[in-house]
Amino acid sequence: MQKLDILIIGQGLAGSLLALELEKRGKNIMVLDNNPIVSSSKVAAGLYNPITGRKMVKTWFADELFPDLSNYYQDLEKKMNARFHFGKTIYRPFNNIEEQNDWSLRTVELGYTPYTKLTVNYSIGIDQLVDPLGGFFLNNSGMVDVSMLISECKKYFKTKDLYTEGRVHFEALEVEETQIKLGSFEADQIIFCEGPMAVNNPLWSNLKFKIVKGEILDISCRLKIDHVISKGIFMLPYKNHIRVGSTYDIQYQDEDPTEKGRRELLNRLSKLYIGNLKVLKHKAGLRPATFDRKPFVGFHHKYKNVAIFNGFGSKGVSLIPYFAMSLADHICFGKKMTLEVNPIR
Ligand SMILES: Cc1cc2nc3c(=O)[nH]c(=O)nc-3n(C[C@H](O)[C@H](O)[C@H](O)COP(=O)(O)OP(=O)(O)OC[C@H]3O[C@@H](n4cnc5c(N)ncnc54)[C@H](O)[C@@H]3O)c2cc1C
Repeated sequence: MQKLDILIIGQGLAGSLLALELEKRGKNIMVLDNNPIVSSSKVAAGLYNPITGRKMVKTWFADELFPDLSNYYQDLEKKMNARFHFGKTIYRPFNNIEEQNDWSLRTVELGYTPYTKLTVNYSIGIDQLVDPLGGFFLNNSGMVDVSMLISECKKYFKTKDLYTEGRVHFEALEVEETQIKLGSFEADQIIFCEGPMAVNNPLWSNLKFKIVKGEILDISCRLKIDHVISKGIFMLPYKNHIRVGSTYDIQYQDEDPTEKGRRELLNRLSKLYIGNLKVLKHKAGLRPATFDRKPFVGFHHKYKNVAIFNGFGSKGVSLIPYFAMSLADHICFGKKMTLEVNPIR
């Protein structure tokens, strides 16, 4: 039997960052993952954006999440000796005059200054981009290549013997008062970071997930942009192509890319960009969302040594670093966490 402090199930963005935070605090951990070809983290566009939605408001918990986010990913890049974080300004064109007015009122509200860079009420003049009414530019935004990040983390865990590949079958799990047994492992605690696969976990059958399928395209076109452009759909320049996304579908059949998704993306894109393009790649995946759009972070109501770290929906890149540190501080130093994310809220 290998004796551990904590077993972590799942090596997506959630499991990876939580494992690193626990290891940093001196815990003896093991990460178990079934290494799927497609997962939420392997498909994610990786954008982080403090002001979202039609109402153009700060996202939940923005002031806690965003100020240190780019430093967090830059430090991780140094630790992994790899480049997967790219700070990028987001340009959000206005849809109509009403939005222009709403935004000018919003910018005088308290707390928006750190996120807003510039507002213009005229087109910024990029050939073939549709923005007749101008728009606003955001700070504290960017992109993480999540697929690369988790692949670097996997290499790191492997070199330290902290990674085991394989699927956890719940019949094989023994949850006792003071310890967990799973195959050759014996641990004080187990934390499930299973992403959308959590819906199959009998220990968490009381939690209501809202799984949302998403599709994205990589295109090549003549548009020359450094910023991300976001207007219902985003155009994200990365390497030598532009990533376009995403769809939100709760009535999906499977995880595969669909013709309907591709058409929807190209149709929405045609309202933002009027030039020729070529689709290079089409990907799809499932987002592990919840009904109140807040994650599930904390311990089981019955089994005090079983925890969950999941439900990050379409905002894993901005939410996971903060809550990985919170949960690790809670486990290691007894620090309190916000009750808003408690799974038994
Ligand atoms: C199309 C699309 C676009 C997105 N774009 C963005 C974006 O721009 N910005 C953003 O912030 N977020 C985005 N997301 C959401 C983001 O990807 C998720 O919030 C995040 O990746 C969730 O990570 P996770 O670790 O919880 O889940 P996952 O990435 O699914 O990882 C869970 C891992 O656990 C493994 N696992 C599960 N059960 C078991 C088991 N029993 N035994 C062993 N292994 C197991 C899985 O196979 C997987 O490897 C997007 C998602 C999609 C689908």
